[in-house]
Amino acid sequence: MEELVALCKRRGFIFQSNEIYGGLQGLYDYGPLGVELKNNLKQAWWREMVFDRDDVEGLDASILTKPNVLKFSGHEDTFSDPMVDCKSCNQRFRADQVPDHCKEDDLTEPRQFNLMFKTAVGPVEDKDSFAYLRPETAQNIFTNFKNVVDSTSRKVPFGIAQIGKAFRNEITPRNFIFRVREFEQMELEFFVVPGTDDEWHKAWVDARLKWWDEQGVSDENIELYHVPKDELAHYSKATVDIMYKFPHGLEELEGIANRTDFDLGSHSKNQSELNIQAAVMENNESNARLATQNLETKEWCVPYVIEPSAGVDRGVLAVLNEAYKVEDLEDGKTRTVLNLKPHLSPIKAAVIPLKKNHDGLVEIASNIKKNLQQLRLGRILLENSGNIGKSYRRHDEIGTPLCITVDFDSLEDNSVTVRDRDSMKQTRIEISKLSKYLEDLILN
Ligand code: ATP
Repeated sequence: MEELVALCKRRGFIFQSNEIYGGLQGLYDYGPLGVELKNNLKQAWWREMVFDRDDVEGLDASILTKPNVLKFSGHEDTFSDPMVDCKSCNQRFRADQVPDHCKEDDLTEPRQFNLMFKTAVGPVEDKDSFAYLRPETAQNIFTNFKNVVDSTSRKVPFGIAQIGKAFRNEITPRNFIFRVREFEQMELEFFVVPGTDDEWHKAWVDARLKWWDEQGVSDENIELYHVPKDELAHYSKATVDIMYKFPHGLEELEGIANRTDFDLGSHSKNQSELNIQAAVMENNESNARLATQNLETKEWCVPYVIEPSAGVDRGVLAVLNEAYKVEDLEDGKTRTVLNLKPHLSPIKAAVIPLKKNHDGLVEIASNIKKNLQQLRLGRILLENSGNIGKSYRRHDEIGTPLCITVDFDSLEDNSVTVRDRDSMKQTRIEISKLSKYLEDLILN
């Protein structure tokens, strides 16, 4: 973990937030390379979940959330962790995460601590003017159920996908970007006919495992955890957690829950007419019926929902951890390399003129950069540093799959030397064939 954190800072992937003022615990900023990696991971998820399927719509809803949403979802009552204070070191910990140096006798009795952040909305700050920062993206998928159905004419089974920020006032944020207070989630709420839910649940677990494998998170480092009944969240009939061997231990990367008809049922009006199976709080505040009607029998049915919910930041950490290698080279030296899948690499190719500021070489290199950039595959970098060895080392370390060197022969033969990150092999390629070469590599 220390090596990863150091690499992330040194190369501009991830910085501690508010660092020049001493930092703020549990917050991180994504730097020039981190933002590209994170965007690429989110894009890969969106492509798979929305574009490649015919049964999912997207959504981007607000972060500020009306208290009623999180009242009827159950978060106001249950979204809390038991917490203890240590009288010796004066720090506060989650009851199940007290460090070794605190003695049992010094700890207070556990108390419930709600994890949701509040803020005031509008000019007057009083008990009625507050809103929450959403603790998960899921809830405003449910509150938009009717809007999406009415505007798209979707019939179950279908899903609504959303990527966005979520906020939790974690008592003990730790392990770099694993447990933070502001993070991003990639969530799908997939609505199904009750009775088909077990089957869909299993299908989604399989689909999600396949996707993580395609992002380079190998199944050797993954274990499935079938959450036992007594540990299930209040809304869940069954949950399977995808556990990943993070540098600090085996922990949750994504959870896939069968939330039954709890959420749509909870946020509905006229609940007694809807044949809701889950135990929901009586709701006299909602003005919508979040259900579908059988037009022949006129009967209402609240769909069940399967929810694959993944953390973007935990995904970035897993992807970096998988990709990070220190290799021994033949000459006795070592090199650090990120074997990122090319579609995730922050920089897709670096174009390097052999001699810095040499007009002819820089002109060719700039043209190559421009042409490759127009393929819209991601960022292409012109690296006018004049130090090929150093450039190769840097691009190995940040996971750039290709380095393209423009040398003096290029002026004569319209070809360049392409160096492959993983094999370190160098190949001479005609400039006119570079686009196809890069496309094959990235889109593969
Ligand atoms: P944990 O038990 O680790 O606190 P959770 O079960 O509360 O996680 P969920 O509510 O299921 O997490 O949230 C779905 C996903 O959101 C998690 O699988 C994780 O990837 C991500 N996530 C949740 N909390 C955090 C956090 N504090 N920091 C980063 N990612 C988080």
